[in-house]
Amino acid sequence: MNTPSSPSNGHSGPVGIIAALHQEISELLPLLLDARSVRIGSRDFWTGELDGQAVVVVLSRIGKVAAASTTVALITHFGVRAVVFAGVAGALAPGVSVGDVVVSAELLQHDVDASPLFPRWEIPLTGMARFPADTALARGLLESATAVLADPQALLGAVVMQAFGITEPQVYNGLIVSGDRFVCTSAESTVLRQALPDALAVEMEGAAVAQVCHEWGVPFAAIRTISDRADDAASVDFAQFIAEVDSRYSVAILRKWLSMAGGV
Ligand code: SAH
Repeated sequence: MNTPSSPSNGHSGPVGIIAALHQEISELLPLLLDARSVRIGSRDFWTGELDGQAVVVVLSRIGKVAAASTTVALITHFGVRAVVFAGVAGALAPGVSVGDVVVSAELLQHDVDASPLFPRWEIPLTGMARFPADTALARGLLESATAVLADPQALLGAVVMQAFGITEPQVYNGLIVSGDRFVCTSAESTVLRQALPDALAVEMEGAAVAQVCHEWGVPFAAIRTISDRADDAASVDFAQFIAEVDSRYSVAILRKWLSMAGGV
C-alpha cells in the first residue's frame, strides 16, 4: 500500500470518502480490498484499500448535521488525512447542465443568517462565510474528472446519455452552496441565484463538511454531479440518474484520483 510521503495536514491516516445516498456507497463498497465495517454514531464506516490507498467510506445520510457529525467521526476515530465528498447537486449558474461535474473551490451555507449580529451567511464566531476547499485536493479531483468526462460514451453509453440529454459534459470549479432544503422550485433557485450569483450548484451537505474540516485542519473537497437544475423538474428520475450517471462518475473519478495522486 502506498503512503504519501508528506500529507498536507501531517496525518498519515486513510482518505475519508463520504456520500449522502445509499446507491453511491453501494457501488464503491464491493471494490474495497480487505473491507471491514465499524459502527459509530449510527453510521457504518467501511475501511479498506482502494486502488492502492487506505480509505474509509461512509454513508453520511442527507443534510448538514448528518454530514458534519459523520465528518467528526472520520477525523477523530480514523485520523483521515483528507476528506472527499462525492454526490449529486442541483445546478444554479446558467449553463451548468445535468451530467456536468462541479468540483468545489469554496463552500457556503446558504441557509445560515444570524444578521444583524453577524453578516448574512457568516458562521458566527468563525469570521467566515465561505470555506475554501483544499487547493491541491480540488486540483487533483478536477484533473481526474476532466479525464473521466473526456469520454462520456465509454462510461455511460449512448442510451443513458440520450435519456438524460447529456451531450458533452463539462467540469466546473467554483462555489458550491449547501442548506437543509432540497431546492426544487424555480422560484427558490432564482432567489438563490440572485443572492449568490457566483454559486454553481446547490446541495445539502458540502459546506457543513468544509466547516468541520477547516476547524480540524483536514484537507477537504467535494465533487458533485449535476442531477437537476434545482427547479420545478428537480425530482424527476432522481433515483435512475443516481444509479446510471452519478454513481458511475463518482466511482470512476475517485478511482482515477486515488491511483493518480496517491490521495493527497
Ligand atoms: N428525491 C430524493 C431526495 C434526495 S435529497 C430521493 O428520492 O432520494 C437530495 C440529495 O441530493 C442531497 O444529498 C443533496 O445534497 C443532493 N441534491 C441534489 N439536487 C439538489 C437540489 N436541487 N437541492 C438540494 N440538494 C440537492
